[in-house]
Amino acid sequence: MPKQNTVKGPAVVKGIALHTGARAALRILPAEPNTGIVFRRVDMPGAPEVAANARNVVDVRRATTIASRTTGAFVLTVEHIMASLHAACVDNAVIEMDGPEPPIADGSAMPYFEGIMEAGIEEQDAEAQYWTATAPIVIEEGSAMLALAPADDLRISFTTEYGYSGLDTQFFSCQITPENFRENLEGARTFCPYKELEQVIAAGLAKGGSLDNAIILHDGALICKDGLRYPNELVRHKIMDMVGDLYLVGKRVRAHVMSVKSGHPTHCKLAMAMLEQEAKAAAAQ
Ligand SMILES: [Zn+2]
Repeated sequence: MPKQNTVKGPAVVKGIALHTGARAALRILPAEPNTGIVFRRVDMPGAPEVAANARNVVDVRRATTIASRTTGAFVLTVEHIMASLHAACVDNAVIEMDGPEPPIADGSAMPYFEGIMEAGIEEQDAEAQYWTATAPIVIEEGSAMLALAPADDLRISFTTEYGYSGLDTQFFSCQITPENFRENLEGARTFCPYKELEQVIAAGLAKGGSLDNAIILHDGALICKDGLRYPNELVRHKIMDMVGDLYLVGKRVRAHVMSVKSGHPTHCKLAMAMLEQEAKAAAAQ
């Protein structure tokens, strides 16, 4: 049986927060077995914590925000960190934040995943916990669809479609292992349709956004720095986001998840449905 893992030493990531535009720094620290992933707001009185769990999700517009109802701690945009921890098989870590939002870095998971790998992975004296399916799950919302099937490992197959004439439908399917994550997913950057930019800015969001950390979709063209990192960078980023959102079940996931045009709202709905299925199965035993 695989064992639980934590990080060997602190992994530090610094930079600009996407929405507030403020400087941000975080430290991914080792934690005891069965701690799970916990965010700690060291800038708030008493350094309150919030567990990375789907039950703590409070906002899913453009990013996944979690908050603790008891401590008042909240953290925006957890998905790229969560994806990196999930892919690196880190079960236990405390993430110290000096503000509500992690650095956006280059808009990808690369600084987080590489930071974790550089800090090193430490095996712990406890068995790894897996979420496994007892039955398929289907979530449909508008034009988005998610179907989860039982599987022996984590695989995500994703189709994106943005309705621009110049931008083809993108499909990618990937088994999530540390090697595959590094090769196929970690570099894929976040993106924003141009028509949504105005709304985002009017809402007081994306103050730290620039071509240093995002790809802009405009009339079917992709505007970005230094060219695309993968021909289908958008769908790879969507898969990376999902690897992070699914880790909000609090365990490594073993399932094949097939998506058409899903996003954080449907991902978090799926994570809640997964927790409900697990609770039902435990109650029936
Ligand atoms: Zn993302």
